[in-house]
Amino acid sequence: MAIKLEKVVQGFYDFLEEGKIMGRRCPKCGAVEFPPVYACNSCGSLETEWCEISGKAKMHSIVMPAALSSKPEYRELGKYAYGEVELAEGARCNAVVRGISRKSRKELLERMPLDVHAAIYQRDGYKTVVFDLDEKYLG
Ligand SMILES: [Zn+2]
Repeated sequence: MAIKLEKVVQGFYDFLEEGKIMGRRCPKCGAVEFPPVYACNSCGSLETEWCEISGKAKMHSIVMPAALSSKPEYRELGKYAYGEVELAEGARCNAVVRGISRKSRKELLERMPLDVHAAIYQRDGYKTVVFDLDEKYLG
C-alpha cells in the first residue's frame, strides 16, 4: 500500500490477509479495542495485545448512504447501510453493514438492536472488515 500506516493498523491488515479479524485486548482491564489502537480507551494502559474477535455484534443504528455521496467502490457491496456496531467483546465502532435496503430499513428498526457478524471484504488491492446482517432477517 502506498500510504504509510501506523504499525498497529498495518498489523490489522496483515491479519486480514490471513483471514483473521483482530482487535487489541487490554490485559489490565480486559477491554477490547476495535478497530485496534495501541492504548486502552477504558483504563489508559498502553500494553494491549492482539486478540481474535468472535465477529458477533449488535447493530444499534441504521444510516442509509445518501444516493449521491455513495462511493463507487462500495457499489459491489450490494445493499448496505452504515451504523453503530457493538462487538460481543464490548468495543463499538461505525461500520458498513450489508443486507439492509431502504425497503427493509423500517421493519429492521423495529427489531433493534440487530444481530450482525463481521466478514472480511476484498477491496481493490486490500481487505477490510464489513458486517453482514444475520440471515434470520433476510427474505
Ligand atoms: Zn484497559
